[in-house]
Amino acid sequence: MFLTDYHIHSTCSDDGHNTMLEMVMASYEKGVRQLCFTDHCDIDHFRTGEPNPNCFLIRRQMLDMYKNTLPAVPKDMKVLLGLELGEGNHDAAEAKKIADSEELDFVLGSIHNLKGKPDFYETKYSSDERSQALIDNYMEELLELSRIDCFDVMAHIGYPSRYIRKGGERVEISTRTYGDTLTALLKNLIERGKGIEINCSGFRTPPGGGSLPSVDILRLYKELGGEIITVGSDAHRVTNAGVGLAEGFDILRDLGYKYVAVFVKRKPSFLKI
Ligand SMILES: [Zn+2]
Ligand SMILES: [Zn+2]
Repeated sequence: MFLTDYHIHSTCSDDGHNTMLEMVMASYEKGVRQLCFTDHCDIDHFRTGEPNPNCFLIRRQMLDMYKNTLPAVPKDMKVLLGLELGEGNHDAAEAKKIADSEELDFVLGSIHNLKGKPDFYETKYSSDERSQALIDNYMEELLELSRIDCFDVMAHIGYPSRYIRKGGERVEISTRTYGDTLTALLKNLIERGKGIEINCSGFRTPPGGGSLPSVDILRLYKELGGEIITVGSDAHRVTNAGVGLAEGFDILRDLGYKYVAVFVKRKPSFLKI
């Protein structure tokens, strides 16, 4: 099966464990034939939530590693260069500037932390009320990001649900709990020619938990007329390369999607699935 992976990290990300070439070869083994690196560039520091003016210092390292990797890529595989740009809504001007970098084929727009707060992954959840307030704020920030032209595809909608608990249970971000906000968000993206991804990291354990966003949100996006959808493993090490992508493609086919999007120089094209 022909698989694409438009969300994958290398050692250019602080939390990446393998070089681009290692990730390419491990992905190839799993059937991936088109892959786009999306290393982290977070407008904020993940531990403090404070602005990180040096966030795009990885640029040089990223360009060099990419250039050195290309000659070793198998002939029947295509490897592109993108970025996972975090918290673009916290500094729209800076985010636009970074996203406009000429070498980029693709930009994922993510929110990993709220303004002035640490990454959801790093946050302590002291009470149910606080958990709820954080999720409400997250949804507001996603809406804000959806209006800023600094990315092509919104990454992992529902990200904090992996880490936030309420009454001991994972918080649900679904059409049942946030229907109106999600409809507004997805409409914004569609009107602006942007897409969403199906992030498949939840098909490995840990973290588990299925796709991000959840299937009901993927269905709503399609019902609203959304067509641009990419598939991503969000792998940070070779053992996770390609893992979960086939499940992601299956979900899209079950929902009636006929194509996945791929990007070159920030322009989408569509591959039949
Ligand atoms: Zn992310
Ligand atoms: Zn990622």
